[in-house]
Amino acid sequence: MTGYTRKDRLSFEAKKNYPLRKAPNSSHKTIAPHAYTAASEAADAILAPILTPASLPARTQLITQHQRCQEIFAGNREAMLGSLSPERAKAIVEASSKLGRVWLTTIPFQPSLRLTDFEVAAALQLRTLTGESEARCTSCGEGNFFGHPEVCLQRILWRVARHEGAKRIIGQALASTPGTRVRLEPLGHQTSRRNDIQTITLLGSQATGLANAEYDLTVVSLTSKDARATCLPSQDTDPSRLVNKYLDSVAEHKVRHRPHSNLPFHPIVFSLGGMMNGSTTKL
Ligand SMILES: [Zn+2]
Repeated sequence: MTGYTRKDRLSFEAKKNYPLRKAPNSSHKTIAPHAYTAASEAADAILAPILTPASLPARTQLITQHQRCQEIFAGNREAMLGSLSPERAKAIVEASSKLGRVWLTTIPFQPSLRLTDFEVAAALQLRTLTGESEARCTSCGEGNFFGHPEVCLQRILWRVARHEGAKRIIGQALASTPGTRVRLEPLGHQTSRRNDIQTITLLGSQATGLANAEYDLTVVSLTSKDARATCLPSQDTDPSRLVNKYLDSVAEHKVRHRPHSNLPFHPIVFSLGGMMNGSTTKL
């Protein structure tokens, strides 16, 4: 083995005996050729007119390194989601959603938004897909499964706390619009059931951008029994569509069972990890 040192050979043998798991993310080896192509293309575009002013190149749109790598990243993501169980694939989709990915970098200035050690541990466990270490939950004694910490009966307050926190924050944000009156949990007509938020515009929707409406907020876990029972037709396993279908069904249920009110009604549905269904995102 000329040209190889003893260290190289040892390293080669170690890899042969213990092959490294193929990393799901692109390594520098994958990215480097695209970075080089993008850089040389950009350099050519700048240098060509200086070095050979006579032959001006046709103006072409440069393809950036970011654009070139997007295809690889998308492919990696598809491959990874395809290799995971539906529960884990849903957790990835949830954690990479708009709200799902900001929790670790958000500073909880309000005491109500602070997470307990258990919550941080459970969230990290879900997001790193490490799953359950014990066969039975040490809090409630139920059989453990991926995502159980979210629906553990000992932790029911978790969902309630998210619901209350989100309701207050959305209420405050709506109330900061001038000419708008916001009521939390307005009394329904001849019923004890209430929607969560009511907005009344005093200056009209033209001026405030808001309409008179009632909103009901729901926070659900993607690892609940109903969520796990949701499936897509004809072998479709796309985790985003799967999550959306479940959250949509929660929203539809809310519409069907809404308390009677003269105002337009809008359900707002979040997963515990911060994912929203299509109608909530639009709203
Ligand atoms: Zn439990």
